Amino acid sequence: MSAIQKENLKGLPLAELEAKLVGLGHPPFRAKQLYRWIYKERETDFEKMTDLSKDFRRELSEKFTLPKIEVSETHPAEDGTIKYLVKLSDGEQVESVFIPTEGRVTLCVSTQIGCKMACTFCATGYQKFVRDLKAWEIVDQLMSVPHPRPITNIVLMGMGEPFDNYEEVMKALKLFNDPLGLKIGKRHITVSTVGITDKVQPFIDASLGKLAISLHGTTDEQRSEIMPINAKFPMPELMETCRNLRFRGTERVTFEYILIKDFNDSDDDAYRLIKLMKGIPCKINLLAYNENPFVDFKRPDESRVLKFQNILLKHHLTTTYRRSRGRDVAAACGQLRIEAENRLKRQAWEKLKGTLPQRSSTSELVPILSGGLLRAESNLPSSAP
Ligand code: SF4
Repeated sequence: MSAIQKENLKGLPLAELEAKLVGLGHPPFRAKQLYRWIYKERETDFEKMTDLSKDFRRELSEKFTLPKIEVSETHPAEDGTIKYLVKLSDGEQVESVFIPTEGRVTLCVSTQIGCKMACTFCATGYQKFVRDLKAWEIVDQLMSVPHPRPITNIVLMGMGEPFDNYEEVMKALKLFNDPLGLKIGKRHITVSTVGITDKVQPFIDASLGKLAISLHGTTDEQRSEIMPINAKFPMPELMETCRNLRFRGTERVTFEYILIKDFNDSDDDAYRLIKLMKGIPCKINLLAYNENPFVDFKRPDESRVLKFQNILLKHHLTTTYRRSRGRDVAAACGQLRIEAENRLKRQAWEKLKGTLPQRSSTSELVPILSGGLLRAESNLPSSAP
């Protein structure tokens, strides 16, 4: 049986792994042993699982596989943040970010290749949606990347909209959570959504992580300008859903608010935000816009951000200001992938030009590279390089 026909066991919850092995005539405890090797030891070679019998290891190697994502680029920043470009088994790439802070180490993971949401402030929003990540590809950003310190917290804030890949994301959260495996408690996991309203209460009910909602505007019109999803799930409906959420215990929603200079950073915006939050158990996470070459939005001055924060604090709204990390390494979500893709296309272009007869014109080459650099660049706004 060739490697390509073998069944992937990575990403299966314990119960499914057990059902599979019992179906092959093995006792249920074998599944627990194997699960520990996969998620605790992070072993991908069945032959190295030394407490399994030789015959069992051979059978596993013949029938199954444990794939691994690979790091294709590592970009360490001065503040200790490391941005990774990781390669999936089909050659596609996504980004993960290692963010060490005092007392915790957070990993920001991607959930899709590209994104359908097309938020105008986000570099990923300018990339074509390719596909959803499988649960194993989401957890493998933790398991197969050699992070310099153990990860204590997970945020699903990388490329993609987690609630647009709901089933696989929920499977991945169970794997992150499992005390027999990766053991990251639900209070240490945050899922950030643009506000796909019908998934919000089911997510809270599943109790697998904390909810963060990207708000970034204080009126329906303002939010629609930068987040096209607002047409489908308008802000009043989103706020009403949040107001009616049924939480267990002391949970609350975090609202992410990126301050963009002269767009949503005025005192009036701050006062509108206070009104919007009435009746919602919440906290606000402010971020100053992380400028990038793809979009012509500006970062507000530090004094403006602090004034905005002060207005919220004075009105008893729990508000934190999260300073951007890794700004020296293309830290805007999706920026690294676009740069890597364009670099590859440029190399292919140069190579191709070198092999063609001199009279070949640029227009002759364009169709050969269709779907590549040109497509990527035509997706960008006019301010792009
Ligand atoms: S901000 Fe998130 S949801 Fe919006 S385009 Fe970027 S990755 Fe997608």
